[in-house]
Amino acid sequence: MSAELIDGKAFAEGLREKVGALAATFAAKAGRKAGLAVVLVGEDPASQVYVRSKGKQTVACGMASFEHKLPATASEADLLGLIEQLNADRSVDGILVQLPLPDHLDEQKVIATIAPDKDVDGFHIINAGRLAVGQEGFVPCTPLGCLMLLKDRLGDLSGLDAVVIGRSNIVGKPMAQLLLQESCTVTVAHSRTKDLPGVVRRADIVVAAVGRPEMVKADWIKLGATVIDVGINRLPPEPGADKGRLVGDVDFAGVRDVAGAITPVPGGVGPMTIAVLLRNTLVAAHRNEGVALAA
Ligand code: NDP
Repeated sequence: MSAELIDGKAFAEGLREKVGALAATFAAKAGRKAGLAVVLVGEDPASQVYVRSKGKQTVACGMASFEHKLPATASEADLLGLIEQLNADRSVDGILVQLPLPDHLDEQKVIATIAPDKDVDGFHIINAGRLAVGQEGFVPCTPLGCLMLLKDRLGDLSGLDAVVIGRSNIVGKPMAQLLLQESCTVTVAHSRTKDLPGVVRRADIVVAAVGRPEMVKADWIKLGATVIDVGINRLPPEPGADKGRLVGDVDFAGVRDVAGAITPVPGGVGPMTIAVLLRNTLVAAHRNEGVALAA
């Protein structure tokens, strides 16, 4: 048996098209475009690539993109001052501060300064709390993207056994909350979990968000399970190559013979993250203007 491939790239493209159509309707109703502000501190090359890509996709969806770059030496007061200014700016619906921040800046304090209703990354404790109690807020983009892929493939998730490997605030924990809301029986595994292969073997749904290349093996997977691989890991380069291959947290070659469906890396969860960010920004714009979402 070879698992069905879950094509996150195609799904994300469809989502961006929907967001684009709704963004046009919003602009006509509100008399302005929905706007996303992205703040980058320092010159980390990977962060620069992400920020550029977010800006490009925001504009391609018919929304306004505001990029703010601060030097790596920026003080906490500079950064918090900029966030306050964006909080007050009516043309800005969503604010995203690209992480990681330079060491001298306190991430939690920075996130706490973003107005919760503009926190399209869903990292503010108000939004984490809203998710935990089932109130409307903003949900972190990567786990929400994983949930969309799962529902697209499986429909009703109710009663399914789900194992989330990883308990970070940005992926594992919100993923577990979302699956619980869908009435799955959820287990959250982490580095102290005993007999991880045995725990994973019970699962109808496996979400791996660990950051360890190809850790989840074929003999951990129940026949026919749906496997969502969040991990993005670069292997060391082969002799003569510049860059190593990108792999997930799942041993794709082995697991695809056992699973019912699996996301590839790249082309699975990765493309969903920015598409969901655009969706969250559009939702923020509707809420900020008090305009009903067309669909
Ligand atoms: P973190 O490093 O914050 O969390 C990793 C989690 O994995 C921790 O909870 C840790 O447990 C757990 N873990 C580590 N080693 C093991 C092990 N041997 N067995 C079981 N659990 C283990 O990572 P993130 O959640 O931020 O990211 C996870 C992965 O997802 C990374 O590869 C990252 O690059 C990728 N990612 C991809 C995104 C996308 O857009 N596709 C977006 C965000 C992340 P403990 O808590 O006990 O330490």
